[in-house]
Amino acid sequence: MASAAVTLHGDLGDFIHLDREGAAAHRPGAVVPRPGTVVPLRGAAGERRGAAPERRGAVVGNAAVVHRRFDGHPAVKDLLEALGVPHPEIAAITVNDEPAGFDHRLNDGDRVEAWPATEAAALGLVAVLIAAPEDAADPRFVADAHLGRLAAYLRMLGFDTWYRNDADDDLLAAVTAGERRILLTRDRGLLKRSVVRRGACLRSDRPVEQLIEVTRRFGLVGRWQPFGRCIRCNTLLAQVSRDEVLPRLRPLTRIYYDDFRRCPGCDAIYWKGSHHARMERLVERVRAGVSMPAER
Ligand SMILES: [Zn+2]
Repeated sequence: MASAAVTLHGDLGDFIHLDREGAAAHRPGAVVPRPGTVVPLRGAAGERRGAAPERRGAVVGNAAVVHRRFDGHPAVKDLLEALGVPHPEIAAITVNDEPAGFDHRLNDGDRVEAWPATEAAALGLVAVLIAAPEDAADPRFVADAHLGRLAAYLRMLGFDTWYRNDADDDLLAAVTAGERRILLTRDRGLLKRSVVRRGACLRSDRPVEQLIEVTRRFGLVGRWQPFGRCIRCNTLLAQVSRDEVLPRLRPLTRIYYDDFRRCPGCDAIYWKGSHHARMERLVERVRAGVSMPAER
């Protein structure tokens, strides 16, 4: 049987750590190998002859190295996804130090390396998927059905975010592909669908932490346009005069506020009241979180 050595750089190693075998490499007191060395996860002494494990590996510096066995000549996408890494998480791949695409066919003894976006950009590596210019200029998202709070936060900050709490995986994948959006989910299986070209597997289950992850990953700092989009239905808000909304306002709101927006989609009225103060606190938390180094 053929095999390849696979190095997962940066936070791509998270996907190995999430698996049971990788967890063993994180045992407290485990010897940390020198960067650049490859250490079998299960020592040779612990293996039965003739029953070589499917995977061996170790965490090496800021990368996880695993050995993967395969039959025939699988595409590198299939090999990486079999290790648990969804393809939208991968920004660049090399095979034997040469840039490679997802459909590159593997041979016995190949050395595969995969990088997430930040590391790939820092090293100037050839991107495995070329983002269209509009993708970078105006990131638009799909939030998985369990990410309602994150969807609200993104809309609050002005980002176009498709969300339905009853959306199933087929619909999420179809909207992501059909509208060229970025899929945000914690479901690795959903991200492995080939129609999903761009996406992120969120590590945290806490909405503010998730917002920090998305902000960092897609460079959203400085592109915030708070008070611009309806949190309920994602429609862009329109400026309206106080007179237009006066009959719908409570007495104190009439007195203290003079900047009003209306949602043409669902008719909700927005003004810079307590909701706005909460939003400003959220922006500050995210700004502080993004400037901290990523948790490893
Ligand atoms: Zn609305």
